[in-house]
This record gives sequence, C-alpha cells and structure tokens, in this order.
Amino acid sequence: MRATVKRLTRAIPAINLDRCTGCGWCVAVCPPHVLLLHPGVGGKVSVLDDADACTGCALCYVRCPFDAIRMVPREQVAAQSAVLQRKSGI
Ligand code: SF4
Ligand code: SF4
Repeated sequence: MRATVKRLTRAIPAINLDRCTGCGWCVAVCPPHVLLLHPGVGGKVSVLDDADACTGCALCYVRCPFDAIRMVPREQVAAQSAVLQRKSGI
C-alpha cells in the first residue's frame, strides 16, 4: 500500500500583537499585499489577511523593527491567530 506523503508546509508569519506597534513596515514590504493594518484594542496591529496567498518570503519578518514577527508552520499560525484575535478584539 502506498503511503500518503504530506507536502511540507511553508512557514508563514505569526504576528505577536503584544509587540506590534502598527508601524506598517511589514505591510509596505509584502509583495502580494497580504498583510493589513487592523484596528486593535490599543491601536492598529498588523494581521495576515490572506494566509493562502502568502509566499513565505519572510520579508515582513526581516523588516519588522520591533521583533513582532516569527516565521512558523502554517498550521501553527491558524491556531495562534484565532487566540490572538480573540484576545485583541479584532
Ligand atoms: S513591522 Fe512589526 S511592529 Fe510594524 S506593523 Fe508590522 S508586525 Fe507590527
Ligand atoms: S512572508 Fe512574504 S508574502 Fe508572506 S506576509 Fe510576509 S512579506 Fe508577505
């Protein structure tokens, strides 16, 4: 029987909303424009608006001046963003 081979998932950005200042640098450098600034509890925060369209290029991670972005496995972001969005009210 042939084993099912799962394709490796590319890493995508996880944004730490406690560190994000809403400066917008990650939004500006994202080639496919999948990061957006959304209003949060303490001001604007960056949110990965379309994870499926993220290429995993990591330009946002490199550009963030506040160390608010980590590149993590796609499935980890989905679980984390649900928790963070509940926490921030976005
Ligand atoms: S560059 Fe960093 S601090 Fe600025 S909006 Fe993006 S994630 Fe937030
Ligand atoms: S990894 Fe690249 S494509 Fe994905 S959100 Fe960051 S800058 Fe945009």
